[in-house]
Amino acid sequence: MNYSSLLKRIDHKRDELVALTQDLIRIPTINPQGEAYAECAHFIGERLRKRGFNIEYVRALHEAGDSDKYPRINVVARYETAQPGKCMHFNSHIDVVEVGTGWTVPPFSGWVQSEKIYGRGSCDMKGGLAASIIACESLIEEGVGWRGALEISGTVDEESGGFAGVAYLVSKGYFSPPKVDYVIIPEPLGVDRICLGHRGVWWAEVETHGRIAHGSMPFLGDSAILQMSAFLQQIEQVLHPKLRQRISQHPVEPPGARASTLNINSIHGGQTEQSYRTNDKGHPVGDLPSPVVAHTCKAVIDRRFIVEETLAEVKQEIVDILENLKHCRHGFQYSLKDIMQFLPTHTDQQQPVVVATAQAIQEIYGKDAQYIASPGTYDQKHILRSGELKNCIAYGPGKLELAHQPDEYVDIEDVVNSSKIMALAATKLLS
Ligand SMILES: [Zn+2]
Repeated sequence: MNYSSLLKRIDHKRDELVALTQDLIRIPTINPQGEAYAECAHFIGERLRKRGFNIEYVRALHEAGDSDKYPRINVVARYETAQPGKCMHFNSHIDVVEVGTGWTVPPFSGWVQSEKIYGRGSCDMKGGLAASIIACESLIEEGVGWRGALEISGTVDEESGGFAGVAYLVSKGYFSPPKVDYVIIPEPLGVDRICLGHRGVWWAEVETHGRIAHGSMPFLGDSAILQMSAFLQQIEQVLHPKLRQRISQHPVEPPGARASTLNINSIHGGQTEQSYRTNDKGHPVGDLPSPVVAHTCKAVIDRRFIVEETLAEVKQEIVDILENLKHCRHGFQYSLKDIMQFLPTHTDQQQPVVVATAQAIQEIYGKDAQYIASPGTYDQKHILRSGELKNCIAYGPGKLELAHQPDEYVDIEDVVNSSKIMALAATKLLS
């Protein structure tokens, strides 16, 4: 295949690629609740239908979050050539996180300035989605030098676990060979880096139980908040130093995440604050809890573990701390509840999708690709979990640190180059 013709074609589509990214940003697919999913799925589907793709809209009926007001609609587009062969699939999530504060540009306008496209989702990951669409359309227009099939999916809810998105499609066989052989997820991991996988995650709720009493006579009760503080002390003083010593051999980026980590995502103890104080006009003036000794305290822990650890060990470590407190602290009682868990994933560096993408990066940037792993999970976990497909990586434009931030942006140059790399990688895999 004539690579230079393909690359030139993508260069000529630069304005179109920018416009497509802007159009996608302008559909505010905020999750939660899952705004405008149908609109975004149809926007992608109808564009690709005109270019010869077969389009399926797959609604994750009755999955968590799905309702008639907020339907979980995924789009899967497939282009089949006359010659049978392998299938290269590009999967992007269409949802974005809420806007938050601190923006200096309108978050859903697709503002372009200094060769950057701004907006919520520009980096994570509508720039990557647009790059993959232009890559596939360019390959189809070139028309020669490859065979088999191309697929593009726009899936929902990645930011909330991907259960109605990629996980749902996996359960229906959408990511199984021979339907799909290679997957690239254009998450914003950097244009010259290949992300092979991610650390594992375990979320759990720890609750300590106390005994309620009047706040003026705390000696009559037992504070669940103080019991929780004993647990948190153990986390900070005993567990954290141990975790910092446990370094993965995998190239997790940023390097701080090569060690195991534990975050306390939230904590709540005592009564719920309520607006029962009112001013002379009867309006609430502030939230206060009742004056009682806390009978309960709950914390959600977010444990990210490395491929060298097992989930069973990770859980046992927390149980050991809690059991130890039970033995040495008066009145210490607890419960522990799993919320979510995913094992670490890792695609072998010798897999064809890795090799092809690395060659493409070399051709565009003239340097070796950097191999990394992600500190947090993304939809790769669902694709690899079925165990049938081993060829899956994340590769896409954008800087991970900008994701979910105010004034999120993606560099136009990066979007164009990543589109070329995706097209080149697909060519190598399908020729
Ligand atoms: Zn993302």
